[in-house]
Amino acid sequence: MKRPPPPYRPLQSGHASVVWPALPNPETARLAALLMQLEESQWWTAAQHRERQLLQAGALLHHAYRQLPFYRDRLAQAGFVPGKPVTPAVWARIPVLTRAELQAAGPALHSPELPAGHGGTYEISSSGSTGRPVKALGTALVQLMWHAITLREHLWHRRDFSGLLAAVRSLPNGVALYPDGARGQDWGRSTKGIYRTGQSALLSIVSRTEEQAEWLQRVQPDYLLTYPSALRDLLLHCRDRGIGFPRLREVRTLSELLPPETRALCREVWGLKIADMYSTQETGYIALQCPVEEHYHIQAEMILVEVLNDAGEACRPGEVGQVVVTPLTNFAMPMIRYAVGDLAEVGAPCSCGRGLPVLKRILGRARDMLAYPDGRKAWPLLGDMFYTQIPEIRQFQIVQHAVDDIEVKVVAERPLTAGEEDKLREWLHYRSGHPFPVRITYHREIPRSAGGKFQDFRSAMEPAPRGD
Ligand SMILES: [Zn+2]
Repeated sequence: MKRPPPPYRPLQSGHASVVWPALPNPETARLAALLMQLEESQWWTAAQHRERQLLQAGALLHHAYRQLPFYRDRLAQAGFVPGKPVTPAVWARIPVLTRAELQAAGPALHSPELPAGHGGTYEISSSGSTGRPVKALGTALVQLMWHAITLREHLWHRRDFSGLLAAVRSLPNGVALYPDGARGQDWGRSTKGIYRTGQSALLSIVSRTEEQAEWLQRVQPDYLLTYPSALRDLLLHCRDRGIGFPRLREVRTLSELLPPETRALCREVWGLKIADMYSTQETGYIALQCPVEEHYHIQAEMILVEVLNDAGEACRPGEVGQVVVTPLTNFAMPMIRYAVGDLAEVGAPCSCGRGLPVLKRILGRARDMLAYPDGRKAWPLLGDMFYTQIPEIRQFQIVQHAVDDIEVKVVAERPLTAGEEDKLREWLHYRSGHPFPVRITYHREIPRSAGGKFQDFRSAMEPAPRGD
């Protein structure tokens, strides 16, 4: 495929008396320099990326070895020698760091000292809707890399920077509440100085779906950023009431799993495509949706991503394994071969010509799989079935408490009839392939987690002890 031309947009000058050529201030210049390299490296082969990744991983391992006793033994046993290059064989011997280990290690993963130029550190607390939060550290440098990938994401999807960007997302308590939300004069720090942008508008995710729809009708954005579950609720609300947003050109989603049904629903209701991003709070961006195909390109310049099978070997295209990541520029809290908890399917090289490795689909969290009495586990393929089967259902969540105890939490305009309840159970049995005992409970609303996340299905079962 023919490569699109590099985007031409004049940089903003940081110098009052030099308008052309722009003389950016140092921070903008660094970001522009990163962006320039990313524009080129996206076309590299996977092997070229791998080579550079191991080079950068060497610097990270060297730092972790010197600074953190936690890593010293792990790295030494893998055959790592400070100052020597990291070979693929050494890399593959480094033990995978589980989420539980990361939580247990806590400050033992915080570097006492940082090399020059990483900037100040800050705390990132990731709060999933299940499980204990993971506390991580970031630096100014980590943020700079985040901004560069955010810019890449805008460029890939050819956004019109003059548009109005609206975001409905998790925000600190009391910020951007309905009915007003909040306004920004630009799209925020990632674009600042690089592109002149239109305004942004923010609304807290704690607002109700009908409030979000009403707010969006007043705001009339060109782009909308939100979470997949909130988008689905919004789409269903808008479909039922015939609400459209004539200016809206694209929806961006992040933070949760995006089901294919929601993509289809977005095309059906608003006629729009979704651009999804795969990230975690503690690791930053992992992969971005390709501008051509509906799969994801790993952001190989910033993060080394492996998809490993049960034997710890790299999965081939078509195979599903656990996602293991190493953010390459976070020296404040090195996460070396960290299993984020998700599973993903490896994809074949992409038709767009970018050499950035492909994740065909992200399958969500292994800890939120449905457990069967025979020990088998699977993801329940729920889609938006309850909404389409019984339109009175406004929201639902399925919680597995035990192999023989599944609770379906329902928010509905009226209690369901016995027949409807049976229909719901039958559907669940059909989709899961097993006659699980199902109890239905009614709620005024099903709250999101502190981090704003929502899951259709979650497991409240205690994980089986290891070695059983
Ligand atoms: Zn692609």
